[in-house]
Amino acid sequence: MNRIDKELETLAAFSDAPAPAVTRVVFSEQDLKARAWLKRLCEAAGLAIREDAVGNTFFRWQGTDPALPAVATGSHIDAIPHSGRYDGTVGVLGGLEAIRSLQATGFQPRRSIELILFTSEEPTRFGLGCLGSRLMSGVLPTSADATLKGSDGATLNEVRTKAGFKGNLESTLLKPGHYDSFVELHIEQGPLLEARRVPIGIVIAIAAPASMRITIEGQGGHAGAVLMPERHDAFLAAAELALALEAFAKSTGSVDSVATTGVCDIHPRAINSIPSRVVIEADIRDTDGDRRDRMIVSLEQACVNMEAKRGVRITREFINRDAPAQCDPRIVGTVAGVCDANGIAHDRMVSRAYHDSLFMAKICPASMIFIPCYKGFSHRPDEYASPEAIAGGVKVLAETLARLAC
Ligand SMILES: [Zn+2]
Repeated sequence: MNRIDKELETLAAFSDAPAPAVTRVVFSEQDLKARAWLKRLCEAAGLAIREDAVGNTFFRWQGTDPALPAVATGSHIDAIPHSGRYDGTVGVLGGLEAIRSLQATGFQPRRSIELILFTSEEPTRFGLGCLGSRLMSGVLPTSADATLKGSDGATLNEVRTKAGFKGNLESTLLKPGHYDSFVELHIEQGPLLEARRVPIGIVIAIAAPASMRITIEGQGGHAGAVLMPERHDAFLAAAELALALEAFAKSTGSVDSVATTGVCDIHPRAINSIPSRVVIEADIRDTDGDRRDRMIVSLEQACVNMEAKRGVRITREFINRDAPAQCDPRIVGTVAGVCDANGIAHDRMVSRAYHDSLFMAKICPASMIFIPCYKGFSHRPDEYASPEAIAGGVKVLAETLARLAC
């Protein structure tokens, strides 16, 4: 068994769910144990370690010109409940393996190479994904320390302090220019590479979701006694809005426009009662921020029209509204050059899930390297990437880091 496959197996055992499922919520006991184990591996590889106030951890291989901005790679090791062992972890242990393989050849980087372990890419604990990279890039204000609360009601400050990460959150912020470049290795989490038998995907854009919560207040009443012309049914207004949103996404002319109404809570939820209040939540994504925002504007206008049409009252709020990112052509070109030099087939593609790279792209040129995973499964226990796929991704990552660090 390859070293990285053994290490992925060891990391998967730091879990609150029995194998093959993995549950590793940020700052849980298992997460902290996994971090300590990873630090020992990185120490053994001679990397210098720095931790920031939210637990983002930086493992640095010093270059021959340490004053130059470093080349960075990395991902996350937190895992949502009952998920698999490859999401994020392939980018962390793969980054370490890439560094060790370069060290083994005697290569000396001019720029330092840093492996980053991002805190809380998954939204499980705080309801907000990419916590660490949002803070690094300044997208999330440091006031979140007091306002952001975990599932148990404790603030971010309380949770991180208890986990051993103290100090002012201001210190997590990285200035533009801090890094020369960032490239993240990750499983695709979609089926395209496997279906096309292409071993490497090079990410050219990362779609970003906007999610909206829409609350519709109508009038309840007896399902028999209130006649149809008198009704202000909140659910029927919600249903029309969901269909309208589908139509907006289909009418942009791009397959990259997607919209989903994935939550619909009906009150009072009784078969013989007219729905009086409905909350729907919609996720709207695109690789083009303007095009996505046009879908949002259309939905907002549809809400206004629906109030008049059905005599309901509608309030709406954004749960989040991140900007999509375009990946850096220089890094995309570097990864493609590495693939070409090694005769490795590759496709340029869009990441439809979002990653820490979305926020790193705000402070430095960034891109991602995708490897195939079984049937595109992810966030489930049968998530799987083959040793060959992982080794191929590590090889491309290592040579990319070497070229960027020259
Ligand atoms: Zn991930």
